[in-house]
Amino acid sequence: MRIGFVGLGRMGSGMARNLMRAGHDVVVFNRSREKAEPLGAAGARIADSPAGVASVSEAVLTMLADDRAVEQVVFGEDGVASGLSEDAIHVSCSTISVALARRLTGEHGRRGQKYLSAPVFGRPEAAESKNLLVIAAGPPELVERCRPVFDAIGRQTFVLGSDPPQANVVKLCGNFMIAAMLEAFSEAFATLRKADVSTHAFLEAMVALFGSPVYANYGRLIADEKFDPAGFALRLGLKDARLAIEAAEDFASPMPLASLIRDCLLSAMAHGQGDLDWSSVSRVAARNAGLE
Ligand code: NAP
Repeated sequence: MRIGFVGLGRMGSGMARNLMRAGHDVVVFNRSREKAEPLGAAGARIADSPAGVASVSEAVLTMLADDRAVEQVVFGEDGVASGLSEDAIHVSCSTISVALARRLTGEHGRRGQKYLSAPVFGRPEAAESKNLLVIAAGPPELVERCRPVFDAIGRQTFVLGSDPPQANVVKLCGNFMIAAMLEAFSEAFATLRKADVSTHAFLEAMVALFGSPVYANYGRLIADEKFDPAGFALRLGLKDARLAIEAAEDFASPMPLASLIRDCLLSAMAHGQGDLDWSSVSRVAARNAGLE
């Protein structure tokens, strides 16, 4: 397929590279052009604007930081929406609000364009090694048309519904589960440290108990206090907690734990941790226990 890709950050660059590895014809754009150069050297065409990407693509994937970035790139001057031909598909992979996913569904629809939400689970290493989990929602016929795209970027695709915003609710609830795990590790580790118990030894037991690579990987990051460079920046994790709470309010479904986690992430931001990995939220519980 001829595929456009906009947003070549930590996640997007690996995803775009895997589309090329799968044999797709890829055209890319990134706001800071230097991040597009390595893909250009590998054979991708570099466009001058998101509209330039969209005008030559059957499907355009966007992998951008947040709602504001997606709004600018899609609806701004020379944006994706102004270049996408009728019947071409915009696939939004960023973690964005349910409200923006609704707007994207509506506005693309009014222009005769197609839209799918396909956020992903997995960190930059998983993006690079094609190990992402893709959460797709939208009209079944469009999901099928995009199968080769999903197969190229991930190890498994889950179709969660026929209305695109459903995928965004799933992504926000999934990230909430990960954040809850981070908070649980943070509080347990602080107590263990005060009790003079090895956090690494505790982690080994918990990995055996829970049997999850997500537990193992995040537990190790926290036990090793390896927060820099960030795989997922804490400021983006705070954005996701906020979006989960927004969605919860919209659906009138209280998420008290999400509110607590949001405040812990906010405290971490206040201590200058926005660019560290979001697992560094563990420092909040440590500080509360008088450890730092
Ligand atoms: P990142 O490394 O910070 O990359 C962000 C991308 O968005 C860059 O290409 C950046 O362009 C672009 N961007 C930001 N603001 C923009 C604007 N106003 N206009 C145009 N482009 C803009 O972030 P990431 O870690 O790849 O995350 C991207 C998305 O994936 C986020 O929604 C995140 O929540 C989600 N996600 C991340 C992970 C993870 O572990 N990292 C996992 C799953 C999902 P520049 O290069 O010019 O700054």
